[in-house]
Amino acid sequence: MAGIYIHIPFCKQACTYCDFHFSTSMANGGDMVGSLLTEMDLRTNYLESRELDSIYFGGGTPSILRAKQLEAIFENLHKNFNWRSTCEITLEANPDDITPENLFLWKRMGINRLSIGLQSFNNAELKWMNRAHTAEESFKCVKMAQDAGFDNISIDLIYGSKFQTLSDWHKTLDTAIALNTSHISSYNLTIESKTALGVNYKRGKEPGVNEDLSSKQFLLMIEKFSNAGFLHYEISNFAKPDFLAVHNSNYWLQKPYLGIGPSAHSFNGKSRQWNVKNNSLYIKALNEGGTYFEKEELSTRDAYNEYVLTRLRTIWGCDVKEIEKKFGEKFLSYFKNGCEEKREFLIETNGVYTLNESGKLQADGIASDLFFL
Ligand code: SF4
Repeated sequence: MAGIYIHIPFCKQACTYCDFHFSTSMANGGDMVGSLLTEMDLRTNYLESRELDSIYFGGGTPSILRAKQLEAIFENLHKNFNWRSTCEITLEANPDDITPENLFLWKRMGINRLSIGLQSFNNAELKWMNRAHTAEESFKCVKMAQDAGFDNISIDLIYGSKFQTLSDWHKTLDTAIALNTSHISSYNLTIESKTALGVNYKRGKEPGVNEDLSSKQFLLMIEKFSNAGFLHYEISNFAKPDFLAVHNSNYWLQKPYLGIGPSAHSFNGKSRQWNVKNNSLYIKALNEGGTYFEKEELSTRDAYNEYVLTRLRTIWGCDVKEIEKKFGEKFLSYFKNGCEEKREFLIETNGVYTLNESGKLQADGIASDLFFL
């Protein structure tokens, strides 16, 4: 089983904090869809298995696509791959694109999971983020999607901005729970240097993230979402039972995936490759038969480091038996020694290491301390 990620590199407007690859001009939207289809045709054999258990439309803003464009992509997917009715098919959607007409079309095409970028329920904060929707539209669109029969809905939230006190975040969490969705992804704000927020921060016009407050918000979030019946299965992800994201879980479990579109990454178990992060260059290369990606073979050390980085963030944790089988005795002994030094942050159950609460607050730092250098 494997997954496909399709990157739709267009957005209506640029959110101030976002450093994903996208353009706010749809001028070459038609050419882009043509190039996505060409790339799919070229890479039909990239995955050992053509049977998919997840298809993920990410971006950018995939919900910006017109029905005909999305239909053309589905037609091509059907031509090149197989999947059963249980295949998870996710569309990232922004609230302002969610209408009864679009919901009907998406459902008819086979999309069975929506990932909706709400980010905040505070209109001043949404404006500061330069989001294209209001809190009221967020409430309305989730209800609309539920009424249209989507039972697998994820919402995205961001914490750590200057707009949130701990008590504001308390209310945000309650509001998110009340929306009664099956999945919530919630990310700590990071200030990336090339974003509008990053530039304003560098100029001293925006404060940095208050790490102490963010940590409190993170712990409060775990407590409240857990009490509301969500499983905290990855540092930033919470799911109701049976609604863990198949696509994202596959990333974290090192399953193969094919990434289509500018900036998309692919992994086949042995190597990684990533497409050019530029819409015009991507289209030109696909039209002219040129190179549009870079590739690296993964050494055992790279594969071990990636395993530790991704697994430690999940409930599946790092399994010593798996480490020995995949990477050998040398890496196993290195891992065990590292865990001994970090034992105050770890829980060990039958040879599987996961992070305790203090460990979760510094997951990436602990993982990098366990890296084989
Ligand atoms: S956060 Fe989403 S909608 Fe906003 S610019 Fe980034 S990709 Fe586009």
